Amino acid sequence: ETDATRAAIAVEDASLAHNYHPLPVVIDRGEGAWVFDVDGRRYLDCLAAYSAVNFGHGNERLLAVARAQLDRLTLTSRAFRNDRLGPFASALAELAGKDMVLPMNTGAEAVESGIKVARAWGYRVKGVPEGRANIIVMAGNFHGRTTTIVSFSDDPDARDGFGPYTPGFRTVPYGDAAAVEAAIDADTVAVLVEPIQGEAGVVVPPAEFLPRLRELCDEHRVLLVADEIQSGLGRTGATFACDRVGVVPDLYLLGKALGGGIVPVSAVVGNADVLGVLRPGEHGSTFGGNPLAAAVGHEVVELLAEGEMQERARMLGERLRTRLDALVGHGVTAVRTAGLWAGIDIDPAVATAREVCERLLADGILAKDTHGQTVRLAPPIVIEAADLDWAIDRLEAALAPS
Ligand code: PLP
Repeated sequence: ETDATRAAIAVEDASLAHNYHPLPVVIDRGEGAWVFDVDGRRYLDCLAAYSAVNFGHGNERLLAVARAQLDRLTLTSRAFRNDRLGPFASALAELAGKDMVLPMNTGAEAVESGIKVARAWGYRVKGVPEGRANIIVMAGNFHGRTTTIVSFSDDPDARDGFGPYTPGFRTVPYGDAAAVEAAIDADTVAVLVEPIQGEAGVVVPPAEFLPRLRELCDEHRVLLVADEIQSGLGRTGATFACDRVGVVPDLYLLGKALGGGIVPVSAVVGNADVLGVLRPGEHGSTFGGNPLAAAVGHEVVELLAEGEMQERARMLGERLRTRLDALVGHGVTAVRTAGLWAGIDIDPAVATAREVCERLLADGILAKDTHGQTVRLAPPIVIEAADLDWAIDRLEAALAPS
């Protein structure tokens, strides 16, 4: 660490709530898959802001749209209409094969909005008695940090000490469709699921799990709500992770990459028979659907409609999987991948995941540990194949006995 880095960290530590434990690097510039620190040192970004930067830092196409919109109009509130929101919503709905969009800002807001929509649909359409709606959620989930969302987290760090908790959720083991079936009753309005669990360590459920959930939801008149905030928008080699198993949920929850790494943009996307239950005044957001967000989000949708990002994530992902599989037994106990997204379980005899990330940092690679022994890799999809190879070489070296 240099004086500049140490000084910048000291200012942060003195002035910020300590709800994060960042690696000791202070970034001041980014370009594609690379970022630069205050000392001019460069790092390969293998986290991509938890997949919010799927299309790379400083993506010229997205920046051009943002710059033009900055000069024209940035915020109107939904008290009035703006010329950007309609076209964005229409394009996003089309990308998802749905009728309509509810725009918000952060992922947690999209999840909260999805919960409200599911409950409203349950009472007004399904006929669940007022106040009785339940939603089935998965063990190991991560859906955000609000008080309601942490109420159905089973991660003690996320949940403990933040009660009282919101009722109305039932937790079942992830990947266990029979447990979902057993938990469904007449008051169940939704099953809320990450098609691939990101924060849990890129956990891919059995191939039949989501298709079976779709059947169960149809049979019991329950909404299937897919939280694609981290898994969606190209990361897994498909537009949505649900596409990989041919499943269409009733509601998509989207965020992160929808804002192109420029502005926070999230959305609930669904058909009119579900999203249409909301009436004026029942839900909203000062910033949700603002023209800057809509302009950037629209360009992200157009980028994804071309399909090249998905294809690139798929191709690079195959390379990533082949290389990582070869590390199992060599400091790695298990590897899970989906497109350009990997969870790598580090052998505890070799190091903790945090230690591996610290070694990678020293080598010029930014990666993030999750849940003690797992290193997650999710570089921007624009990463060059040679740079990806180099990162895996460095990981291999970081795991080798010294
Ligand atoms: N849902 C999933 C699957 C996520 O991975 C995240 C963030 O990591 C969220 C929701 C919450 O998003 P945000 O941090 O934008 O509130």
